[in-house]
Amino acid sequence: MSDLENFRTEMRAWLEENCPNEMRDGDITAENQCWGGRQWEFQSEAQKLWFERALSKGYTVPTWPKEYGGAGLSADEAKILDEERKAINARKPLSNFGISMLGPALLAFGTHEQKEQHLTAIARGEIRWCQGYSEPGAGSDLASLKMKCEDEGDHWLINGQKIWTSNADISDWIFCLVRTDFDAPKHKGITFILMDMASEGISVKPIVLISGHSPFCETFFENVKIPKSYGENNASVVGEVNRGWDVAKNLLVHERGMLGTMSPLRGTSGPESLGKFAVEEIGLDESGRLDDPALRQNIAQAELDNWAYNLTVERLTDEANAGNGLGAKSSMLKYVASELTKRGTELRMDIEGTTAATIGEDGIEYGSLANNWLYNRAYSILGGTTEVQFNIISKRVLGLPSQ
Ligand SMILES: Cc1cc2nc3c(=O)[nH]c(=O)nc-3n(C[C@H](O)[C@H](O)[C@H](O)COP(=O)(O)OP(=O)(O)OC[C@H]3O[C@@H](n4cnc5c(N)ncnc54)[C@H](O)[C@@H]3O)c2cc1C
Repeated sequence: MSDLENFRTEMRAWLEENCPNEMRDGDITAENQCWGGRQWEFQSEAQKLWFERALSKGYTVPTWPKEYGGAGLSADEAKILDEERKAINARKPLSNFGISMLGPALLAFGTHEQKEQHLTAIARGEIRWCQGYSEPGAGSDLASLKMKCEDEGDHWLINGQKIWTSNADISDWIFCLVRTDFDAPKHKGITFILMDMASEGISVKPIVLISGHSPFCETFFENVKIPKSYGENNASVVGEVNRGWDVAKNLLVHERGMLGTMSPLRGTSGPESLGKFAVEEIGLDESGRLDDPALRQNIAQAELDNWAYNLTVERLTDEANAGNGLGAKSSMLKYVASELTKRGTELRMDIEGTTAATIGEDGIEYGSLANNWLYNRAYSILGGTTEVQFNIISKRVLGLPSQ
């Protein structure tokens, strides 16, 4: 048996022994994930146990080095662990922006001391991070951001506003893009900085969406003093001052990669496959087929597209692991995943019919089908809009000219 086959056997046995049955429901809805952070309360004993067991092996962040709380797995080993986890429908033991966004950027740009402080706390689920990129006048054109960061000797002085900051109200720290040079060309005066949300002068105001959720906030910074350093070699700035755009872009590739590899047809809409959900809701005809020909056709098409998408994810992930990462191709996956996610919940709404429109007497009922359907419209906006992904794909994947 090859080393990787042995590894697979070992992982299968470990998962079998350690993943509680309650965590094997395939649930990937945001509200049922383990997010971690200072304010985190486990939703069940099983969730806590699963997190603690995974943590003890470094499996909350399998590919990160052991010295920063990971398991030091190779890309091939991590893929096997993921495949075996999915094979038993197990949830991830921990998911958050620290793992999917900041962590990879720190691994690429951070000093040892920055990694030691921040990666370890992410791996242990101790600190929950939010992303301070967008501003009222800087979304798609992110590099035009204006949040002011002035050098005051031993600290930075920060003033301005971020918007659409997901979970800012329940996060502990924020990674932010700020402007440190107003005279330089816009991409060259940006700095990437890490801040404790408890710092004096930071305040948040949740924004309510049509779905009734309030998953993101306006975040205000008024004369916020951020130390230049959190310890020796542990600056609050990641990378070089005024070179934050390099860090920002690296992080966006990981964000889009994460958004582009998220099982879209199951998406945020519940654990069952579309077909199974339809059979349960509508039933079968005399010949054992789904008793609604139009819906049958649409579900089959969506499942086929999803299948092609999954194969593409697998191929691009293998290519990325063997070479230089996903790069601009993450935009392709992000685009297809957001379209499939929206189609998935639309089909679920069709399957359930008029009752699907119910969202509870308070008009909210977090996690309901209608609520997910409304929320999923956000997927073609967050992490960069579909039009922006098209621009990136045309220029950086297809090599087309700008005009
Ligand atoms: C649910 C959700 C969560 C989010 N979470 C976060 C977060 O945690 N942190 C954070 O910083 N941000 C977050 N965002 C913000 C998100 O990144 C921005 O909404 C997104 O980048 C678009 O920016 P905008 O809203 O300013 O739209 P705009 O940039 O104003 O775009 C408006 C429209 O113009 C189009 N457009 C703009 N420029 C071009 C162009 N060059 N070519 C073609 N079309 C163009 C866009 O596609 C869009 O249709 C979140 C957004 C959502 C919906």
